[in-house]
Amino acid sequence: MGRDFAYVILGGGVAAGYAALEFAKKGVSHGQLCIISDEPVAPYERPALSKGFLLPEAPARLPGFHTCVGANEERLTPNWYTEHGIELILGTRVISADTKLKTLLTATGETITYKFLIIATGARAVKLEEIGINGSNAENVCYLRDLSDATKLVNMMRMCTGGNAIVIGGGYIGMECAASLVMNKINVSMVFPGSYCMGRLFTPRIASYYEEFYKSKGVSFIKGTSLSSLVFNSEGKVTGANLKDGRYLHADMVVVGIGARPNTNLFEGQLAFENGGIKVNNRFQSSNTSIYAVGDIASFPIKLFNDTRRVEHVDAARKTAKHAVHAIMEPKTISDFDYLPFFYSRAFSLSWQFYGDNVGEVVHFGDFSGTKFGAYWVNNGRLVGCFLEGGGDEDYVAIAKVVRLKPVVLDLGELERKGVDFVVAV
Ligand code: FAD
Ligand code: NDP
Repeated sequence: MGRDFAYVILGGGVAAGYAALEFAKKGVSHGQLCIISDEPVAPYERPALSKGFLLPEAPARLPGFHTCVGANEERLTPNWYTEHGIELILGTRVISADTKLKTLLTATGETITYKFLIIATGARAVKLEEIGINGSNAENVCYLRDLSDATKLVNMMRMCTGGNAIVIGGGYIGMECAASLVMNKINVSMVFPGSYCMGRLFTPRIASYYEEFYKSKGVSFIKGTSLSSLVFNSEGKVTGANLKDGRYLHADMVVVGIGARPNTNLFEGQLAFENGGIKVNNRFQSSNTSIYAVGDIASFPIKLFNDTRRVEHVDAARKTAKHAVHAIMEPKTISDFDYLPFFYSRAFSLSWQFYGDNVGEVVHFGDFSGTKFGAYWVNNGRLVGCFLEGGGDEDYVAIAKVVRLKPVVLDLGELERKGVDFVVAV
């Protein structure tokens, strides 16, 4: 059993949805393109899963957040794919790939042949077992990567109203889920090994603001330690957790957010790798010229900082996908990708954005006892990064514009005094 396509997108997440829209804009013919996804639904905006989807009142539900609504573009419902002659092969896992024969083998036994392949398999959540703890399969232990995880989490929250949750990890998932748990009237203890939350991006001062805010909502922070084991009842449900510092915490449910790993295993030994992902050039072409890689799994050149990175954030997934499709469909008109890293998060009434790189000297600015504050990063005398909580659209536009210019900074005191007005005035 087999089918042939000119273009195959492997993976049906954020990057796949944005790639499909770009293929349609570039005039792909009916029957030339398919998307193969092990998820049972058409591509959707994954960030909604830790925000709108978890709200206790009027939660977001599909089809409301199919791509590409997150970038204020068309919402691609399953019907849109049919109308555009794009085949959605859903609920289907690819189990092996042969880059020489240009074939993919699915778990249903079908062989799919491509001329061009876009790999958009994203990342998976790191499991507790990978850090030596048992319990991932317990009915009240939740991860958050896809729709089925989010559905399980919502059902668990409904059953645990008024109860206690342990959140393992103080990164993006930990922070966004802790806020949602509180909004669902669940008491939260967050456990992570670092001395402050969001350690890879926040400074201690920025983290302290968020931790105090979360504490004011009832969240307890248990820092500098981690899980030693989970405790189960006779039905296999988790009832508590032993921590490495000797403490015991009672739990009605557990949410785990201890990082992600790129889904690259199908291509190990077949393509060049870098930074744990598939190495691509500034047109997202891998070491095999028929194969492109985008989104979380792509390790791509960042011209602005003269290095290569994998970026596990939605803006990169959207833009890398579009660029790769342009490179495939109109190779003569494509320019080199020139990306400014951009991350954001929202939780409770808080909302921040970050642009650029968080290396070098840090200059904090603004009112850390109020609602609008931030930080600049200055590396080798140039402004390279900016974080802002509580900004307006015009602030973020100015930050993106100025960080991209990497202006020389002669006086760090000026950055501190002027705060966001520094970039607005440039
Ligand atoms: P994904 O969107 O993960 O899609 C990968 C797809 O490939 C999935 O459908 C997967 O099932 C499929 N797949 C994998 N292997 C196979 C296979 N062998 N066969 C078939 N299908 C396969 N970023 C932000 O910047 N801001 C946010 O607020 C934000 N919120 C997030 C909230 C959550 C809960 C999560 C998990 C991530 C969030 N992110 C956020 C990160 C962002 O969603 C990712 O960077 C983005 O989804 C990456 O897109 P992708 O297409 O590369 O991968
Ligand atoms: P992160 O890498 O953001 O955070 C992982 C967290 O787990 C860190 O706090 C880390 O602590 C902690 N940790 C590591 N090992 C242990 C351990 N043994 N015990 C307890 N804690 C541990 O990953 P997430 O799981 O939060 O996010 C998964 C993916 O989803 C990422 O790709 C992320 O970018 C994406 N995402 C992005 C969002 C956004 O951009 N707004 C929102 C939600 C998800 P330490 O730092 O101290 O090592």
